[in-house]
Order: sequence, then C-alpha cells, then structure tokens
Amino acid sequence: MTSFNFDVITLFPKAFESLDNLGVITKALDNNIINLNLHDLRDFGEGSYRQVDDKPYGGGAGMVLKPEPIYKAHDSVNKFQNNKTLLMTPQGKVLKQNDLLRWTTLDQLIIICGQYEGFDERVRCLADEEISLGDYVLSGGEIPAMSIINGLTRLLPNVLGDSESLKDESHNNNLLEYPQYTRPAIFREMKVPNILFSGNHKEIKAWRNNQMLKRTLQRRQDLVNEEQIKEFPEIKEISENDS
Ligand code: SAH
Repeated sequence: MTSFNFDVITLFPKAFESLDNLGVITKALDNNIINLNLHDLRDFGEGSYRQVDDKPYGGGAGMVLKPEPIYKAHDSVNKFQNNKTLLMTPQGKVLKQNDLLRWTTLDQLIIICGQYEGFDERVRCLADEEISLGDYVLSGGEIPAMSIINGLTRLLPNVLGDSESLKDESHNNNLLEYPQYTRPAIFREMKVPNILFSGNHKEIKAWRNNQMLKRTLQRRQDLVNEEQIKEFPEIKEISENDS
C-alpha cells in the first residue's frame, strides 16, 4: 500500500513534533501509512540572514512573508502524481469533515503555513485551495496544518482499530453523534438510558438516529436541511424519559 504524503512548508517545523506523540498518528507514521516531510522555510530564505519576510509595501504593521522563499520551498517538494497544495489562511474556506474525506483519495497534500501578518498576495497562486480552521486569527498556519494532518490520517484505512467507529461519528452526514455511555450504569445518580440495555439492536439504532437528529437540531441547526430529515424516515418519536 502506498503512503499518504504530507509535505509542510513552515518556519516552525519543530511544532510538528507534537503530532508524533498523538496515539493514532504515531501508529500511522510508524506503519508508513503516512509520511510527514517538513520543509523549513528558513532554508529557502535570502542572504546570510536567510530572510523570509519584509515590510509591507504601502506601509502598515508587521512583517509579510516574501513570495520567493515560499515558491522555492514549494518547487523543492518531491511531487506525487495526485497532489494538492493547501494554503492556510483565515480568509479561506472553513475546513469541514467532508474536505478531509475528499482529500483521502489524493497521494499528497502540500501545506503552506503563514506566519506574522501573513504572506505576499502572489503566494495564493500556488494554492489549489485556501483553507481556514475557523473564523478567528491564529499566529501561524501550523495548528491548522496539524489539524488537517490529524483529521485526515484517522480516516485512512488501517489507522483506527475499528473502522466502524467512523461511521456514526459527528459531522458524518452533517449530523452530530448520538450520546455515548460506558460503565458504570449509574454514575453519581446519572443513569444510562434504559434502551441501551434492551439488546434490541433495531430499537437502539432508531433511538440513536433520533438522538443524532435531535442533538443536531438543538445545537447546530445550521447543519441540517429538509433533505437530511427525509433521509431518516425511520425516526420515530421517543419520549423524553427514554432520552
Ligand atoms: N493578516 C492576516 C492574518 C495573518 S495570521 C489576515 O488578516 O488575513 C498569520 C498566519 O497564520 C496566516 O498567514 C495563516 O497561515 C495562519 N492563520 C491564522 N489564522 C488562521 C485560520 N483561522 N485558519 C488557517 N490559518 C490561519
């Protein structure tokens, strides 16, 4: 099986060391399910100071990443056939589970991390997609890049012990996951719903589907549309006592 390749262009390659201490990601690296290649932007900097940033034309606060080092770093990446380049930016499309899922079919993601005030506008030409982690501004693209590596890796075959666990989880089909319980049956007077002891798999499935929809409507109505509701015709009214 060929590995999925992540190539990251960053000023802080050390930040990615923490990824290797994260359960399933460590396993995926050890088993060559993924390759993580870090490209230190500093190595492509200019002059004896290896300069990668400069003041913005037109004035203004902070420093902007120069285009040339980023282009050079990108040129140096060993490209696999089916690759995409992602640019981390708060101006991009907000990352969704579905994006991670569609990228799993690629051989390689090249991820460019910004820093400081961001990057020269001409860097955008390198990107197939511009991606934001959310509507807030971080100091660099490293955490968004690590989020993508982490979220995508767990979707790859043979990474999770039980691939069934991917099926019902939150944001699959735009629904949030149903409530989960494990032992003990009663904890500090909080009881596990009776239906989960029934052994009736059909009833349990119906309850869980109902909970997914209910929970999504309560918390994230923006995720659900009419068609989504039609997809779950088996959902029946279950009393509050059961939930
Ligand atoms: N001045 C820029 C923000 C710079 S933040 C602007 O207003 O658009 C510095 C870098 O951090 C960015 O270049 C980007 O790579 C990264 N970054 C910050 N917030 C991010 C977010 N929400 N999603 C993805 N990357 C982000």
